[in-house]
Amino acid sequence: MSIVVLKLPDVKHKTEERPKCCPYCKGETFQRWGRVSKPVKDVHVRQVKVYRYRCCSCKRTFRHYPEGNTRADQTERLRLLAVLMWTCGLSHRASRWILSGLKVLVSHMTIWRDVQAEAQAHKKRKQWKAMRVVGLDGAYVLGWGEKQPVLVAVDLGTGEPFALGYINEYDPQAVRRWLAPLVQRHGITVIVTDDLFSYKVVAEKLQLGHQVCQFHVRRWVGKTLKQLQETVPKEWLWVLEQVRELLEFLPPDGSKRLFALWKQLPGRRSKPDQARLALEQLRDLLLRLSQDWQRYCVFQSEPQVPWTNNPTERAIGRMKMRARTVRGYKSWPGMESGLLLAGTFAR
Ligand SMILES: [Zn+2]
Repeated sequence: MSIVVLKLPDVKHKTEERPKCCPYCKGETFQRWGRVSKPVKDVHVRQVKVYRYRCCSCKRTFRHYPEGNTRADQTERLRLLAVLMWTCGLSHRASRWILSGLKVLVSHMTIWRDVQAEAQAHKKRKQWKAMRVVGLDGAYVLGWGEKQPVLVAVDLGTGEPFALGYINEYDPQAVRRWLAPLVQRHGITVIVTDDLFSYKVVAEKLQLGHQVCQFHVRRWVGKTLKQLQETVPKEWLWVLEQVRELLEFLPPDGSKRLFALWKQLPGRRSKPDQARLALEQLRDLLLRLSQDWQRYCVFQSEPQVPWTNNPTERAIGRMKMRARTVRGYKSWPGMESGLLLAGTFAR
């Protein structure tokens, strides 16, 4: 999924177009009131011509900037370029060095402010966006001298992260407190996660549809079956085969069939303080899969729901790449906005 803004904004060095309305009173008639030359920082343009206008209604004067310019020293193009370099993993210092090769001198602090401003704008754009299907996954990022747990929410419609929680995904209460307002604001109806216990609790409490990533399920069930293959008495090996087949085809009656298998197996014989026998482990597996079956199959009835959580993992990968150099963040909000931005731009 490529979401990068490939087209940098145009920068004009002058404009003959008159302003549409007065920035103060929205009046629509003006007089020209002089012209100034303004030096700008940009990769092509060095100077722009800016007309001043006087509003005929409120008599105030204002500057009308050519496309791609604002009252800032740098053009919009240069600002976005600096942000792109940063999200690609370059340090402020390295970005400044590249720009100086293009004969543009930009300070460390300017790039820092550009990144912060873009991150805020990104958050604002996403603030009320409807997102039906959302991927959640925990990660660790370096910050304040050690690894910090974060929870990342990704809009699976676009693959872009839109919220970051400074919480541990293993804590269902914390996940729920953080997720509930997001569910309200964005109209989330389905979450896609790995099969960590806390997500099941949260999905139930918040009455959300829940798809468990099938890569995760296949990985751990495959591992468990492989171990059981060695330990389960031979006359029960056919059960393992059935489980494999059910997971591969995910039939709608899978839950019932797993439950029926569970009933066929002998009940618990080991004492509570003894290790579980292989057959008992198999029985536990059957019950767990039977109970979670609906969570494996949401994607079959809802085309917008993916069957794995890969887009979320990719966004986290992009963040981690950037996270190596966000150690300098002094506060969580700064870190949050920086990481969200980093996770958004695909390479
Ligand atoms: Zn006016």
